[in-house]
Amino acid sequence: MITLTLPEIADLTGGTLHGVDPSAQAPVISGAVVTDSREAEPGSLYVARIGEAMDGHQFVGGARDKGAVAALTSRTVDELPCVVVDDVQAAFVAISRAVLDRATDLTVIGITGSSGKTSTKDLLGTVLAATAPTIAPVGSYNSEVGVPLTVTRVTEETRFLVVEMGARGIGHVHYLTTIAPPQIGVVLNVGTAHVGEFGSRDAIAQAKGELVEALPAAGVAVLNADDPAVRSMAGRTGARVVLVGEAPDATVRAEDVAVGRDGRATFRAVTPKGDATIALSLVGRHHVGNALAVLAVALECGIPLATAATAIGSAGIVSRWRMEVTDRAGGVTVVNDAYNANPDSMRAALAALETMGEGRRTWAVLGSMLELGDESDADHAAIGVEAQRRGVDELVVVGETARPMAEVAPVPGTRIRWVADADAAESLLRAELAPPDVVLFKSSRDAGLRWLGDKLTESA
Ligand code: ATP
Ligand code: MG
Repeated sequence: MITLTLPEIADLTGGTLHGVDPSAQAPVISGAVVTDSREAEPGSLYVARIGEAMDGHQFVGGARDKGAVAALTSRTVDELPCVVVDDVQAAFVAISRAVLDRATDLTVIGITGSSGKTSTKDLLGTVLAATAPTIAPVGSYNSEVGVPLTVTRVTEETRFLVVEMGARGIGHVHYLTTIAPPQIGVVLNVGTAHVGEFGSRDAIAQAKGELVEALPAAGVAVLNADDPAVRSMAGRTGARVVLVGEAPDATVRAEDVAVGRDGRATFRAVTPKGDATIALSLVGRHHVGNALAVLAVALECGIPLATAATAIGSAGIVSRWRMEVTDRAGGVTVVNDAYNANPDSMRAALAALETMGEGRRTWAVLGSMLELGDESDADHAAIGVEAQRRGVDELVVVGETARPMAEVAPVPGTRIRWVADADAAESLLRAELAPPDVVLFKSSRDAGLRWLGDKLTESA
């Protein structure tokens, strides 16, 4: 983090200092700001949050043992010098803003969408980091806690900050843009993820569009031209709009998209700066759209087309369990995409499985998609139908929520089995999987399929 002293933090948060010896030098926060005491490092500030299940104040001692030099708390603690505030979240935001105010020559890029935020953040992070110091933390830091955690990693050297912004309700993305005001905003897609919480797809579009509403006039909105709900956000921003996609009027466009038998796409990128052929290392046609968004941002950031195209093509998986493919000679190919699932990403993964499965047996081991609300059963059933349409040979449906996937009208060529949990799926797979089968694991995080995917990768 950009170095702050504890008195400075007390000042900018309106908090009260405790446990600081006035005659000694005040603690200096030179390490990461953390909310998980286990992640504290020398020089860290530990932020004690009170969550639903846990009270972070319990772990101040743990943070100290890992090297934290101070805590941000809502009551006094003995284990570390602290700043006590009424509202820890508001204070954490104030610290983030102070960090950004002190950063010079920093471009903030916000990314939202229903699917692919983390994948795109990682890809963009890799591309930008090849030219200048970039913060784009591994994983999915897209909440009111994740975003300030991301922002407080900024140092004096940082030139690009890539922030994932998730929408769990109206106003949420707007709030995140007040923590990390972006100059460039990317909206990937509006799907049906979290429709249960929002009520409708329109409401989801309303929420995601808050990102482009927050952009300054000198900013840039990168919008997916192929998603009508995203394209229409052009009317909600005062920033310059760059459309990306396969639509003929997209400013940064993919032409001649071809997907190889390994599931990787190749395309010609047509841009205002010229054309380039991009061969993705990432698996799945859906990464074409993500890659175009990354290319558009990279060009806006002044990265030459050829440099950006090469970096995009060579980038691999950064955050785990997103179309992670293990393909050992003579073995079973494992596609572990079980970080999370919604109808769109299920479809994207099944499309990839179809191309990868040409000439060999395909398995789709699919678990639940959470947060779908009233449509849950129908959405699961639709994925069962889609798996058959994509020619899946063996569909293994895991868990109670996902059961409707297995209850679809049978189509010749696909065997459908339902199992109660990941253990039962493991027994079935250990008995029947054989090289050169390709097996996809996909579900929301509850089902345990990512660990099963990992286990089978080890023995594949
Ligand atoms: P979360 O809301 O859980 O943070 P996210 O938006 O960060 O999700 P990722 O973690 O990048 O999304 O990807 C989730 C799933 O969506 C993965 O299975 C990934 O392969 C798939 N995916 C990535 N990009 C797209 C896309 N453009 N369209 C559909 N699916 C996608
Ligand atoms: Mg994410």
